[in-house]
Amino acid sequence: MDTKYIFVTGGVVSSLGKGIISASIGRLLQARGYKVTIQKFDPYINIDPGTLNPYEHGECYVTDDGFETDLDLGHYERFTGIHTTRNNSITTGRIYKTVIDRERRGDYLGKTIQVVPHITDEIKRRMLREDEKDEQLDFVITEVGGTRQLRWQLGRNAVCVHLTYVPYLKAADELKTKPTQHSVKELQGMGIQPDILVLRTERHLDDHLRLKVASFCNVDLECVVQSEDMPSIYEVPVNMQRQGLDAAILRKIGIPVGETPEMKSWHEFLDKQHNAKRELNIGLVGKYDLQDAYKSIRESLNLAGIYNDVKTIIYFVNSEEITSQNIAEKLDGMAGVVICPGFGTRGIEGKIIAAEYTRTHDIPTFGICLGMQMMVIEFGRNVLGYKDANSREMDEKTPHNVIDIMEEQKSITQMGGTMRLGAYDCELKEGSRVYEAYGKEKLIKERHRHRYEFNNVYKDQYESNGMKCVGINPAANLVEIVEIPEKRWYIGTQFHPEYSSSVLNPHPLFMSFIKACL
Ligand code: GLN
Repeated sequence: MDTKYIFVTGGVVSSLGKGIISASIGRLLQARGYKVTIQKFDPYINIDPGTLNPYEHGECYVTDDGFETDLDLGHYERFTGIHTTRNNSITTGRIYKTVIDRERRGDYLGKTIQVVPHITDEIKRRMLREDEKDEQLDFVITEVGGTRQLRWQLGRNAVCVHLTYVPYLKAADELKTKPTQHSVKELQGMGIQPDILVLRTERHLDDHLRLKVASFCNVDLECVVQSEDMPSIYEVPVNMQRQGLDAAILRKIGIPVGETPEMKSWHEFLDKQHNAKRELNIGLVGKYDLQDAYKSIRESLNLAGIYNDVKTIIYFVNSEEITSQNIAEKLDGMAGVVICPGFGTRGIEGKIIAAEYTRTHDIPTFGICLGMQMMVIEFGRNVLGYKDANSREMDEKTPHNVIDIMEEQKSITQMGGTMRLGAYDCELKEGSRVYEAYGKEKLIKERHRHRYEFNNVYKDQYESNGMKCVGINPAANLVEIVEIPEKRWYIGTQFHPEYSSSVLNPHPLFMSFIKACL
């Protein structure tokens, strides 16, 4: 079958969860046996979100091929298990840069370059994924970020799903559909008639209300779907399937709908989630006091918890507020601690204090990227006795640079997309805890995003004093994992396992960590 295109837009307000709806549509179509991908088009000028502060844009998610992307790509991967690439995340900046680079190269020699047709053609080329011609997809789902719209030509093979918000006015005890009507009118003004409406709402919408929206917006009644708040985002695909969102999409495109797929393993997961009542407290030591900043870590902990029949309760512990005096109190009642990734000096001493406390009190600890580096520094200071042990990132002149800048990073001056990014091989040491966790696999592949690395000059001293280097990148001989075997679970990874945890395949290290916490 020819590739079909689904566009997901949003109106009225932001944060409606377009990413979750896009991911849910992807999951539902996969359950019907279709091959899908999901991509995101963002309106901002940055080439990618890699240089954005998490306060601006939440977590930066990294793809296998080393592209720094939007956190919605994490939802796409967790819901569908697909691996996205740099072609799944496009910004206005990237579109313009491609066209301008081409102009400088002389590709358009003699022509005036204009928004129409040069920019619009580039947008279309990206939407049709012309750089990935051989991927043979049944459906390409494109989430159009922001509430601002990009323009496109909808062919016969496309469906437009528009997400809006139906607010509830308490004083009037009424649900209001006017904003939806306005938002649809705006789309229509751009020449786009939405085929399907997904109404986000905190209250159940009755048929009368849906009928009203359907007739005002010129959409079939069965194409007006409501997305009520759910106790978990993972309920959304099932809720959408119940209301026939996937069936409506197929009907619009002219594909026979057939039977509703069972989604057995997804339901098994949801059952486990419902039954996971026992609570497990995990401390998240980081500097960004905001849900979205450590999105993938949070989701990975939740998923691993559910598969271990517990409900993970995550307590954010602000590393800037940690002192040696208050650390015991801050981590009181935590079954385990995650030391988070990050950049720069702010909050790192708190992370080091936390690493010391959990090591000396034998509390299961998972250090991720900067978190792993802080474990190494702490061990250097307090076990090896190098009081000034540090990372070159934090102290350029430290004589004990146990974390050092990587050789190939030294000459880099540009900030965007220049770190060690994406999936690299890692060889696990037999008999180590991580080797067991990965099911005795010898060679694994995980995603990275860093400039600094364990300094091999100190490797023997660390190993002979109890911190073992149990994961090594064979090509560059870089230390990717450290662990203290005599502790219950004290492991740091230079890579980010959280990027490759999905609903149906929770990550083995998070599974092992949660087990240890239990
Ligand atoms: N700032 C550290 C580095 O660049 C760690 C990065 C991270 O935690 N993602 O190596």
